[in-house]
Amino acid sequence: KIAVFWHRRDLRLHDNAGLYRALRSGYKVLPLFIFDRKILDALENKEDKRVMFIYDAILEIKDKLNKMDSDILVEHGFAANVWKELITKYNIAEVYTNGDYEPYATERDQEITDILAKENIPFKSFKDQVIFEKKEILSGQHTPYTVFTPYSRAWKDKCNKFFLSSYPTEKYFSNFFSHTKPDIPSLKEMGFEKTDEDFPSDKVRDELLEKYEEQRNYPALPGTSRLGIHLRFGTISIRDMARKAFDTSNTWLNELIWRDFYQQILWNFPQVGKGKAFRPDYDKIKWRNNEEEFKAWCEGRTGYPLVDAGMHQINATGFMHNRIRMVTASFLTKHLLIDWRWGEAYFAEKLLDYDLAANNGGWQWAAGSGTDAAPYFRIFNPTAQAEKFDKKGEYIKKWVPELNSLNYPDPIVDHKFARERCLKAYKDALDKS
Ligand code: FAD
Repeated sequence: KIAVFWHRRDLRLHDNAGLYRALRSGYKVLPLFIFDRKILDALENKEDKRVMFIYDAILEIKDKLNKMDSDILVEHGFAANVWKELITKYNIAEVYTNGDYEPYATERDQEITDILAKENIPFKSFKDQVIFEKKEILSGQHTPYTVFTPYSRAWKDKCNKFFLSSYPTEKYFSNFFSHTKPDIPSLKEMGFEKTDEDFPSDKVRDELLEKYEEQRNYPALPGTSRLGIHLRFGTISIRDMARKAFDTSNTWLNELIWRDFYQQILWNFPQVGKGKAFRPDYDKIKWRNNEEEFKAWCEGRTGYPLVDAGMHQINATGFMHNRIRMVTASFLTKHLLIDWRWGEAYFAEKLLDYDLAANNGGWQWAAGSGTDAAPYFRIFNPTAQAEKFDKKGEYIKKWVPELNSLNYPDPIVDHKFARERCLKAYKDALDKS
């Protein structure tokens, strides 16, 4: 009999909570990854770079395992079907994995748990992608926190070496199942095309983190870690990063805590991941949802240089600086009165570091409908934001080179007018409640 370890958002062998438990189970361990048809079918772009990233990460795991006379089994199909087949092919004693808090993942895991239970195979899931999950951090009233500052205080109070130490999987690498190298499905077979892509490094320099507080708000500087995609797919460990943050930058630590914060929001309030505003009253807002204007926003043709720069950056690279994510999201929801769910979906398609919990949290924050949102009457002025955070216009120049040409559009809407219109729409909706 063997144990299977199912990789999902933890594409690494080192410091991996579920893998560690599997390797110590007493059974030989077969690592598994499933290219889930349900997820792949939802991707419209057949050159989606995130699929390449996952593919590369798996090849790296495969290479490491091959050197230890083992391998990773890579399957392609609907998860439930794959599992039904696996239990007929292998003599499986136990299945190990790491928790995923998204609604689809939760439902899928329940389905797999049920399939396995029929064969008396336990499905064991561990906390790996966050420092604290689910209901580990509760307020004095034993309810989940919905405001970041007290949450982060409680998080820091609870955090100690125990939660930050790595799982020394290396000690047990001899417990991988040895078998002949199975083929892995090609990208082509799965309907995707390979593109050449330089992904951000999985390393971050201490010097960058030491200057993080000072530089993080300036989009022209390389002042943030760019580790988003690695944290998303687990090619690096959150425990390694949190220890680094404790050693270098409290501000950066806070960003990692935001990540935990939104994951626990998604777990405790799953409706936010199913298209609902965290504050239900905000679902009464009458969005204008003008399709032409949405298109202009997507393509970076709003006539507001900082907004357009951000949209050009995301379209060209799959990354957008955090400050500019806030500005563009605020502009779409407040200046154009377009439903935050449209913007959320657009970012979901484009961002390499796309993560349902963080993206939804960011969008609902910008729209004012979220957990820890600024009051709705605080509306970013994109011109003032540019003066403050891109004083020399370097970021704008880089991403909107057409700025001084005749081709650059006039502002899509006047700031003052848009501000008043937004206040009225929000007031109308919220006064009714
Ligand atoms: P750094 O500044 O170096 O931060 C380190 C890590 O901390 C990030 O990689 C990320 O994992 C985490 N982090 C930082 N800020 C936040 C935050 N506010 N909420 C949650 N986690 C955070 N982040 C995502 O990871 N995925 C998303 O899909 C996403 N969508 C966003 C949408 C909007 C509208 C907004 C306003 C923010 C969004 N963010 C998202 C948060 C933040 O903008 C990105 O995490 C950050 O810009 C990534 O760059 P970095 O890796 O250089 O981050």
